[in-house]
Amino acid sequence: MRGQMMDFPLLIPSLLDHAAKFHADTEIVSRNTEGGIHRYTYADSAVRAKKVASALSKAGVKKHQRVATLAWNNYRHFELYYGVSGMGGVMHTINPRLHPTQAAWIINNAEDQILFFDTTFAPIVKAIAASCPTVKSWVAMTDKANTPKLEGVDVVCYEDFIADGDENFEWAEMDEKDAACLCYTSGTTGNPKGVLYSHRSLMLHTFGACLPDVFNLTARDVVLPVVPMFHVNAWSIPYIGAMVGVKLVFPGPGLDGASLVGLFEGEKVTMSAGVPTVWLGVLNELRKNGKAPEALKRMAVGGSAVPPSMVEAYEKEFGITLEHAWGMTEMSPLGTYYAPKEKHLSMSAEKQFALKLKQGRPPYGVQMKIVNESGNEQPWDDKATGDLYVRGPWIVERYYGKNETALSADGWFHTGDVAAIDADGYLRITDRSKDLIKSGGEWISSIEVENIAMSLPQIAMAAVIAAKHKKWDERPLLIVSLKPDQTIEKSAILAHFEGKLAKFEIPDDVIIVDALPLGATGKVQKMTLREEYGDYLLNK
Ligand code: AMP
Repeated sequence: MRGQMMDFPLLIPSLLDHAAKFHADTEIVSRNTEGGIHRYTYADSAVRAKKVASALSKAGVKKHQRVATLAWNNYRHFELYYGVSGMGGVMHTINPRLHPTQAAWIINNAEDQILFFDTTFAPIVKAIAASCPTVKSWVAMTDKANTPKLEGVDVVCYEDFIADGDENFEWAEMDEKDAACLCYTSGTTGNPKGVLYSHRSLMLHTFGACLPDVFNLTARDVVLPVVPMFHVNAWSIPYIGAMVGVKLVFPGPGLDGASLVGLFEGEKVTMSAGVPTVWLGVLNELRKNGKAPEALKRMAVGGSAVPPSMVEAYEKEFGITLEHAWGMTEMSPLGTYYAPKEKHLSMSAEKQFALKLKQGRPPYGVQMKIVNESGNEQPWDDKATGDLYVRGPWIVERYYGKNETALSADGWFHTGDVAAIDADGYLRITDRSKDLIKSGGEWISSIEVENIAMSLPQIAMAAVIAAKHKKWDERPLLIVSLKPDQTIEKSAILAHFEGKLAKFEIPDDVIIVDALPLGATGKVQKMTLREEYGDYLLNK
């Protein structure tokens, strides 16, 4: 017997409809790319999101086609989130920190039809426009006065683009399993991989992320997502905001400590979310000011492990709790979140602190297991470690454009993280099996850097490791051995990377050794190198 309830699809634009009705006058505040603060309400944003949707239809964008953004967190980006997915298109957010050739590759892979960009990223548009034949329009997310003129590119002003849009546009009829968003993540080798979220997966993820033991957000909260809208949908905050009616504060390009603290104070922000590097900048600013922003009591931190000293400093000096989260692009991104249980509250301060450093436990919707080298599941005793696998309704099944599944034969997704889990399900990431470096929240492929190093005729072998770094968490450190009778200066090796990688991907330093440690199969033993040189940049 089947249930007899309404077959009512879970669709992204219904979130904004809800907010426009029940939180009509709740504010959305943005720092503009060109300076100044913009304020309007959910009701205003819904009108403009419909104009976006209508204008896209008029411009010829068809259902399921991709529409791209290269943009900061701001109200126009928010309108696009709903306008694109609401007209049946796929919202494709691109990371502007990528090397332009990589951005162009992604645009061509996604076959984006229209690209919206913040004026900060005009140089990227100028560099790639000619090599992106599917893009019919390049729209500057600004007003007429600030729309840049780019040689060889016909730039359209956003306000002109939406001017003829119909504010009574009917959202497209869609199946909840239709694609709503596309986000690429760096792979260890080769090109980035697209993760294609459906309306349903994003909606279920949004419900999960709102839960009290996760973001715990309400219509009494003011939330500033520092985490970019081009990184897994700003951890879903633009959707959560509309679902529960939080006042949203978008920081635009101002991601430094002083700009963020200014908004925390001015807008009475109660909760924020970002990577540890951002919270380091904010911590320095708070120390300079000698006081915490009045309303700010907690901040989500993830993307990389939070340093213990940072958790302690925020708590002891400013009474702010850092809530540790773990997840990934392939998981929309929510995997686990810090939330103690009742029994933890009576534990010693030391034990409670240790719990804060773990990555948290999953909400309903995420299942986990850890597996050893022989493929056997490891016990949840906080000691045994293994490859971490996950499954659930907001976890990727296959990458965009691929015919083959990304899952193991038994239907689990291999995260590339190595972890221990305790008896209560709290996760502790202990290592990473994927050969990547995460610097300030951005991925760097070790293999890509090694291949460029190896193209120098003097170099015999090259290995790049993640070296610990005070500001960026990790930075690439290149270790090379030279061919017999060859010499080369470190500076010449580093100069060789210029123009081939984005600036942040270039190693911080090079160590020239006689020979790299090799395993039985001839592979470089990175574990040994990490043990020996992992602290190299801290000690410099
Ligand atoms: P991304 O897809 O860019 O969001 O990166 C996801 C990856 O970042 C995870 O697979 C982990 O390797 C790493 N990561 C995310 N959050 C944490 C955390 N709290 N602690 C340690 N590593 C993390």
